[in-house]
Amino acid sequence: PRRPIVGGNWKCNPVEVSKLDGLVANINACDTTDCDVYVCPSNLHVGIVYTKFKEGVWCTPQNCNFKGCGAFTGEMAADQMVDMGLKWCLIGHSERRGEFGLPTPPESSALLAAKCEYLYSKGMKCVYAIGEPLSIREKGIEAVLEYCVQQLKPFLPLMDAEKLVIAYEPVWSIGTGVTASPEQAQETHAALRKWIAENKDPATAEAIRIQYGGSATAANAPQLSACPDVDGFLVGGASLKSEFAEIVAAIA
Ligand code: 13P
Repeated sequence: PRRPIVGGNWKCNPVEVSKLDGLVANINACDTTDCDVYVCPSNLHVGIVYTKFKEGVWCTPQNCNFKGCGAFTGEMAADQMVDMGLKWCLIGHSERRGEFGLPTPPESSALLAAKCEYLYSKGMKCVYAIGEPLSIREKGIEAVLEYCVQQLKPFLPLMDAEKLVIAYEPVWSIGTGVTASPEQAQETHAALRKWIAENKDPATAEAIRIQYGGSATAANAPQLSACPDVDGFLVGGASLKSEFAEIVAAIA
C-alpha cells in the first residue's frame, strides 16, 4: 500500500510575517504517523519558517531553477535547499506553467523535467504538478488523458516512486470551489497510473503516489480519500486554515 501524502501550498500568502507562526502551528497540528506532510511557503517566507516545522513535515519550496547557483536573478537553487536541509521541491504548478497568464514565458514540461533532473542530481525529491484546463475537461476523459500524458512524457525517465510524487490538479478546480467529483478523480488517477504501467513499468505505477489538488477541503476530503488511486492531496486555500489537519486525518 502507498503511504498517503498531503501537501499545503501557501502560494503567495500570507501578507504579514506576523501570521506565519499561526500558519506553522496549523501544519504542526497534523498527525504525521500514517501520512507524509509537506508545506510550500512563499519564496520570501521559506527562510523564515523552514526550521519551525515538526519532524515528519517537509518544508518544500514552490519552484527551483535547473542550473544551480550563479547569475540567475530571482531564482532559487536546489543547492541552496540542500544546504538548508530541505528534501523536496514542488515544480510544475499550473500557476507557473502559464495557465493563469504568468509567468512569461510559461514553464514547459520539458523545462520542468530539466528541473526535476537537477533536483535528483542534488539528492532531492520532487512533487510534479500536472492537470488540464476546463476546455480540455469538457472534451471528455480521453482528451484529459492525452493532455496530462503530454505533461508526463518528459518525466518517464525520471519516474521513480521513491523520488517523485505526481500532483494531479485540474486547473478548473484550483481556487474555484469546484472540486473534481470522486468519480472524476478516481477515473483520471487510475488512467494515469495505467499509462505509467504501460509506458514505464507496472511496479513503478503501483508504487508512485498521485495526489489530488483543487478545492480540497475537510468537507470533501473523506470521499476523495476513499478513491483507491487517490494517494493524498495538494491543498491550497484550506492549507491556510486549521482544517488542514482534518484533511490529513481523512486520508491517514
Ligand atoms: P485550492 O485548494 O485553493 O483550490 O488550490 C489548489 C492548489 O493549487 C494547490 O497547489
